[in-house]
Amino acid sequence: MSEYRSRWTTADLDEFRDLARQFCRKELAPNQQRWAEQKSVDRELWTKAGEIGLLCLSIPEEYGGGGGSFAHEAVLLEEQAASGDSCWGVGLHNAIVAHYLLAYGTEDQKQAWLPKLATGEWVGAIAMTEPGTGSDLQNVATKAIRDGDGYVVNGAKTFITNGGQADVVIVVAKTDPTLGAEGISLVVVETDRAGFRRGRVLDKVGLHGQDTAELFFDDVRVPATNLLGTAEGQGFLQLMQQLPQERLLIGIASVAALEAALEDTLSYTKTRQAFGRQIFSFQNTKFTLAEAATEARVCRVFLDDCISRHLDGGLDVATAAMLKWWCSDRAMRVIDNCLQLHGGYGYMSEYRIARAWTDQRVQKIYGGTNEIMKEIIARTL
Ligand SMILES: Cc1cc2nc3c(=O)[nH]c(=O)nc-3n(C[C@H](O)[C@H](O)[C@H](O)COP(=O)(O)OP(=O)(O)OC[C@H]3O[C@@H](n4cnc5c(N)ncnc54)[C@H](O)[C@@H]3O)c2cc1C
Repeated sequence: MSEYRSRWTTADLDEFRDLARQFCRKELAPNQQRWAEQKSVDRELWTKAGEIGLLCLSIPEEYGGGGGSFAHEAVLLEEQAASGDSCWGVGLHNAIVAHYLLAYGTEDQKQAWLPKLATGEWVGAIAMTEPGTGSDLQNVATKAIRDGDGYVVNGAKTFITNGGQADVVIVVAKTDPTLGAEGISLVVVETDRAGFRRGRVLDKVGLHGQDTAELFFDDVRVPATNLLGTAEGQGFLQLMQQLPQERLLIGIASVAALEAALEDTLSYTKTRQAFGRQIFSFQNTKFTLAEAATEARVCRVFLDDCISRHLDGGLDVATAAMLKWWCSDRAMRVIDNCLQLHGGYGYMSEYRIARAWTDQRVQKIYGGTNEIMKEIIARTL
């Protein structure tokens, strides 16, 4: 295939990519089966990554971060996907949890919390979804009620990425349950507080090595200074402001998965023989892969445009939603076609394409479902 280079990459980022690639190949790739069986990565992975500076890449150095930009986060995610890893929730830790704290934390909160995320002493999670509500975030039932010099948190969350290992959780809760969106606040809960309990690490169709979990909050008391920011009722707005970056992450993961599936399938079909010929030589294979290569390039160009806009501070909500639904949907279709070209081996878990197929499916669901993405886009039409 013709060489394509993303315009946002630089020589510095190439150097960083080498570091990220080495780490992912050495620390992530060989452990996939074991992590899938234990339903989580090893806890030490986080501190190892912290030691070589792979955590909080785009957080300023004064808070312990790498002082890089979103481009560094993108490179790490691309290398993670290229190594075939789907276990490590680093994108959520680095580019979501830490960024909520950076964007809305007071100076004291940032000084207290961000360095722990940067070293890996803390693993971060964000808990929006509840058993009774996911898309309809305004209707969360979890409450954080002011009581003296603190808040008392009560509720249940589910499907929480990094939930099994999290040391700190940003909880979406109602500080005023009589209100809708205006009653929502983000409250930071350290998981060693009394009344916090983890439920099951959930059995999923894919992402077997991720510790997606249920979390329970029974009269968990946190100090008032654990309210993220300075005023109650800002939570919904904060979520709306940060969700485009989360959707960009899903775009990156989807495009990287699509590209990896294409590479794997090219190599498989050029080796496997049937009827005395390479599988690749059948017209159906060539056309399927020509279409896949085209879809990969279209997605890549759109993604690169979104990354460049985001680096310049100009990625709007609707465009991020377009990227999220389009790339996750296309990647799923292309991966399915690539699996077909592997025949029966494509259905065997030891093959990367089989894992990609089960792992990709959720990209259409989380970060806001693809239907919700279309709702968001339609509002701007
Ligand atoms: C592996 C995994 C990891 C996750 N990680 C996290 C996490 O870290 N933190 C977190 O908070 N959540 C997380 N989630 C939850 C995820 O974000 C939600 O599952 C998702 O937002 C959908 O919510 P729901 O499951 O309640 O579905 P529902 O909201 O019940 O939706 C069901 C169906 O109805 C459709 N629908 C709903 N409303 C509308 C509408 N207005 N118009 C059209 N269709 C609609 C949806 O698109 C969907 O098809 C994770 C989920 C999974 C599976």
